[in-house]
Amino acid sequence: MRIAVLGAGVIGMSTAWWLARDGHDVVVVDRNDGVALETSYANGAQLSYSYVAPLAGPGVLPKIPPWLLRRDSPLRFYPQLDPDQWRWLLRFVLACNRRTSEHTTRRLLALSFYSRRLMQAFVAQETIEFGHARNGKLVVHSDADGFAQARDLVAYQRSLGCEQEALDRDACVALEPDAFARGVSGLGARLAGGILTQSEEVGDCYRFCVGLERLLSRDGSKVRFALGTQVQRLVAERNRAVAVETSSGPIDADAFVVAAGSASGRLVKPIGLDLPVYPLKGYSLTLPVTGPVPSVSVTDFKRKVVYAPLEGEGGRSLRVAGMADIAGWSQAPDPSRLRQLVAEARAAFPDAADYSVPLERMAPWCGLRPATPLGSPILGATPVANLFLNVGHGALGWTLALASARIVADAIARRTPEIPLTGFEYRA
Ligand SMILES: Cc1cc2nc3c(=O)[nH]c(=O)nc-3n(C[C@H](O)[C@H](O)[C@H](O)COP(=O)(O)OP(=O)(O)OC[C@H]3O[C@@H](n4cnc5c(N)ncnc54)[C@H](O)[C@@H]3O)c2cc1C
Repeated sequence: MRIAVLGAGVIGMSTAWWLARDGHDVVVVDRNDGVALETSYANGAQLSYSYVAPLAGPGVLPKIPPWLLRRDSPLRFYPQLDPDQWRWLLRFVLACNRRTSEHTTRRLLALSFYSRRLMQAFVAQETIEFGHARNGKLVVHSDADGFAQARDLVAYQRSLGCEQEALDRDACVALEPDAFARGVSGLGARLAGGILTQSEEVGDCYRFCVGLERLLSRDGSKVRFALGTQVQRLVAERNRAVAVETSSGPIDADAFVVAAGSASGRLVKPIGLDLPVYPLKGYSLTLPVTGPVPSVSVTDFKRKVVYAPLEGEGGRSLRVAGMADIAGWSQAPDPSRLRQLVAEARAAFPDAADYSVPLERMAPWCGLRPATPLGSPILGATPVANLFLNVGHGALGWTLALASARIVADAIARRTPEIPLTGFEYRA
């Protein structure tokens, strides 16, 4: 089959990977001149297979007003005259209950554990370098009540298949004595305890995508890249997609996969599909390491900032990522948010990097998480016979990419997927 994949982020690239393995002729279309130059470029780098609970949780609504009042809050809301923003928020509020959140978490865990298996098979077989490491993840809590609640959840998490252990303050410091050194690390100073998940992984999502591009461009490959090509319109006739009109002319195919990140909703709206995908803007820095950094990934639970050590060609770096701004579609960074992220990192790990350099030398970046109100992606078939979706991965696209893409390839091949699609399907 000739299949057009719309979008060359980690979701589109992973989709192309599985479709190529099924023997299809694939064209990957993207408006940028390279792959993974939008949200998949400099995300938090965490393959966070055990931490998939959606933002829409039972306890989140009471936290929102104090967050919104604080300038340095991890979440900011900028109201827009955009019905899509308000509809998304309403659906989000309706999803903030225990039953929905637990259902979503269970489904996402099945998807993420499947993704972990696929990633392990991938790194065992392929030779691309993307700083992949299984170094574990420590979620640190800075108040005793928060840590006690997290500790109580460990048994429940175990019943779902997550292997975690609670570490008190001293055990956290013993795990990372240099990074959490007393009198130096601000995060070390306010540690109450942490939850360690040994099996969590990290990797550079952009380098993974560039590696996939290289693998998919090998001699004999039936994958073609149409980069620098803006998709302007999907053309559907009699309930079938026939082509996409692009800035480089029409592209026709037997089937189409929409993997256009937060732009996906706008792409399919004109042909009558309603996707509740809205951008949540987040920020990152990539700091060349000059001093002690943790060897595990660290999540500061209170401040919602993640710190991931990455090995790259240019040496070691610390990826610092955080913030979720409900702020519309602009991809422009807000300098005050970047300065805030620098301040967080400097307070947490003051010796890790040279914070006196200009901000531009810290690889400042922002991206739009393609978020659904429920926090789970939308995968597979649509009412348009040959149009498939791989969208809405929010804060987990890197973690879920290989499994979601595999499931979409299964749907196209009419194979039974390894995990049920229930709950991930498109609903009008
Ligand atoms: C600060 C931050 C930290 C994060 N940390 C993590 C993490 O630690 N772990 C994790 O699992 N996930 C993380 N995420 C989420 C993850 O990065 C995303 O879920 C993932 O990158 C989404 O991939 P995507 O391919 O759907 O979207 P994108 O990467 O945005 O790709 C979509 C592509 O579609 C193209 N496109 C869109 N419209 C058109 C059009 N009309 N014509 C042509 N091309 C088009 C774009 O150019 C783009 O390349 C983080 C996100 C952010 C912002």
